[in-house]
Amino acid sequence: MSRIGIMGGTFDPIHYGHLVLSEQVRSEFDLDKIIFVPAGIPPHKNKESVTENMHRYFMTVLATIHNPNFTVSDIEVKSEEVSYTIYTIETLKRMNEYEEMYFIVGADAILEIETWKDYDKLLGSCHFVAGTRPGNESQALVEKIEMLRNSFNAKIHLLKVPALDISSTDIRNSVAAGKSIKYLVPDAVEQYIYKNGLYK
Ligand code: NAP
Repeated sequence: MSRIGIMGGTFDPIHYGHLVLSEQVRSEFDLDKIIFVPAGIPPHKNKESVTENMHRYFMTVLATIHNPNFTVSDIEVKSEEVSYTIYTIETLKRMNEYEEMYFIVGADAILEIETWKDYDKLLGSCHFVAGTRPGNESQALVEKIEMLRNSFNAKIHLLKVPALDISSTDIRNSVAAGKSIKYLVPDAVEQYIYKNGLYK
């Protein structure tokens, strides 16, 4: 049985912040592999505001291709249903025998986790690792984690990741403004964005 990390995100586009966080979590928690799960129809977003599923899936594959410990799952992007994390975790558990599962998110997600579908069940079903950007490890976050631990027996871990200062929103804005995104995303992702005219 293996220990795995699940890196869920819209990945519009995937960037080095996501990759550095995943590798650090893998090493820190001694995980066998990380499965990247690009979100299909994100529950909290308007479908039209997000780049087509297949583009986000291909960029995630390109970004992770050289790391033997990283794989990409298409379970959310090929589904017609809204991508609720509880369904994704349950599906991955049914498909494989895992000893322990770590769901990796940005720290902001922890602050609003009570808006997620079946969050109480979800918090009990796996570990959570929240990557914090420089400066966003607020008192509110620390108090929220304490409350979730006490009320739901949640297993939440915080991990500081300086490279998380990179953001997908900033990358999309830079492309639209004709500015460079080199060294913020892997070269293949940069080329994919230009070749397909994304974020203009
Ligand atoms: P988001 O709202 O687009 O992102 C929130 C913040 O977290 C952004 O600053 C984002 O940075 C960062 N972020 C997103 N994914 C990250 C990751 N894996 N590691 C580190 N930082 C990350 O969030 P999202 O990407 O759409 O959603 C994240 C995950 O939560 C997805 O798997 C989604 O399906 C799940 N989710 C589930 C529910 C539910 O089940 N009801 C509700 C909301 C979200 P970047 O923009 O730079 O990525």
